[in-house]
Amino acid sequence: MSHTLRHWIKTFGLIELFKGLAVTGKYLFKPKITVRYPEEKTPISPRFRGHHALRRYENGEERCIACKLCEAVCPANAITIESEEREDGTRRTTRYDIDMFKCIYCGFCEEACPVDAIVESRVFEYVFWERGENIMTKEKLLEFGDKHEQIIAADKAADAKYR
Ligand code: SF4
Ligand code: SF4
Repeated sequence: MSHTLRHWIKTFGLIELFKGLAVTGKYLFKPKITVRYPEEKTPISPRFRGHHALRRYENGEERCIACKLCEAVCPANAITIESEEREDGTRRTTRYDIDMFKCIYCGFCEEACPVDAIVESRVFEYVFWERGENIMTKEKLLEFGDKHEQIIAADKAADAKYR
């Protein structure tokens, strides 16, 4: 059979189409392995590195002591910290910004922090609508931390034995 004839038979016999439909038919009644996100979700590790949060102690005092280790270790230069000494001699940040567009979610800031102040939570469903929203300020990070503290603490506890 000549090449041209084979080509015509293939084309007008819809051979490729039926081949494709055969694959569809084969999997039609098999169990589905796709996840219908966002209605269904896959499990998330306690180590998941999502939206950042600044945490507080139970008495409401912010954990961060402005040591700037996170700022120094950040490979993307995404963190900017300014600090001052309080009247009681403790040191706290006056500015703590993370540029979420620069961040590469490496988790180094979390690893470097000696007091578990900056963490990356399991929250990954967020979006920025306006220019400038990508700068997470200290206020926003603390507010986020307050809102999600329960799950952050649980994730930290679950991972503690491996650290
Ligand atoms: S996750 Fe990595 S890139 Fe992002 S702020 Fe922390 S250290 Fe920087
Ligand atoms: S978040 Fe942690 S590492 Fe960063 S300045 Fe505060 S205490 Fe230091």
